[in-house]
Amino acid sequence: MGDASREIMRKARQRVPEWNAAQVNEALANQHEAGPDDQDFVLVDVREKNEWTEGHIPGAIHVPRGYLELQIEEAVPDKEQKVVLYCAGGVRSLMAGATLQQMGYTDVVSMAGGFGQWKANGFNFVKPRTMSEAQTKRYSRHVLVPEVGEAGQFKLLDSKVLLIGAGGLGSPSAYYLAAAGVGTLGIIDADVVEESNLQRQILHNTSRIGQYKAESAKQTLEQLNPDVKVVTYLERLDETNVSQIIADYDVIVDGTDNFPTRYLLNDAALIQRKPVVHGSVFRFEGQLTIFKPYEGPCYRCLFPEPPPPALAPSCAEAGVLGVLPGIIGLLQATETIKLLLSIGDPLVGRLMTYDALAGEFNELKLFRDPNCPACGEHGHPENLPTYADVCAL
Ligand SMILES: [Zn+2]
Repeated sequence: MGDASREIMRKARQRVPEWNAAQVNEALANQHEAGPDDQDFVLVDVREKNEWTEGHIPGAIHVPRGYLELQIEEAVPDKEQKVVLYCAGGVRSLMAGATLQQMGYTDVVSMAGGFGQWKANGFNFVKPRTMSEAQTKRYSRHVLVPEVGEAGQFKLLDSKVLLIGAGGLGSPSAYYLAAAGVGTLGIIDADVVEESNLQRQILHNTSRIGQYKAESAKQTLEQLNPDVKVVTYLERLDETNVSQIIADYDVIVDGTDNFPTRYLLNDAALIQRKPVVHGSVFRFEGQLTIFKPYEGPCYRCLFPEPPPPALAPSCAEAGVLGVLPGIIGLLQATETIKLLLSIGDPLVGRLMTYDALAGEFNELKLFRDPNCPACGEHGHPENLPTYADVCAL
């Protein structure tokens, strides 16, 4: 350090009080006891990003010295608030303290000895989770969105979504959820790829005809994004497996075209309080909503009993414009991501409809039925009749 630097340091030391690591540790312990609403001070780490990611004091916020003047007012808007600064050795934080005083902060402290002293004392520190270089590139457009950011991307990577069906709706949903970096995708489908599927089920292709759809989906999705783990279930959802299969997942995307599964899923999801993002398509029309247990209506609030089989055509009988499930499936993926990140206004208690021929979206309010046999006041989702039971009668 030259004479001029020494002089700057001497002056900074006169003006900025210092705490040693033990004092900061004790103050943090008291603060922790007081709870989050009663914070005596804000701890700010002014080191560079690479130093921060190697480990930092728990509860600290990170404002690198180089960005201090630009970012500190957003991080600590109240200039009367006590701010405790630290760096690696106690020099940069002292300088940073002098800068904060010039900016009008009235109660600034620098930690003497810095993070080096902190570690030498054997105090606790944490290593923040970091993205690999490949992930930083892959998810850069997410990280740029404040509502997602790095924390949101980690949330997605830790999330588990179950797709019921790898068909018309499941294909676009799963495709984009995998691209978005949802870390675990479960896919349940017992069918094999047929030529007539390829008009809309874009996870599959001509060379996969005859393969299980769930396995074809796994190949496509893992090629798209190696961060995604795809769990396949080559079976149909039924009373014997439903509760075990859905237990592992945060959100369920329902892309089935049959009523028995809808009722079965509805009741099981209510019991385990799992949100179901429901979509359906018919010729030129599609609709979607979220069934969020006990916060909005469930499927049985709208349709308490399954319809007679003759009134319930499946996709095979009704036909559908190939692009339509693409639109509805992507809206399902969008709603799923909103749920996972807890952002925006999810489609709970609202039915969105799309009429492709008219080029129109509409919305219907849906209400919980207090007499619903599943989620109503006296309802019970266990042992309600499903479609299969009705058929057997
Ligand atoms: Zn209900």
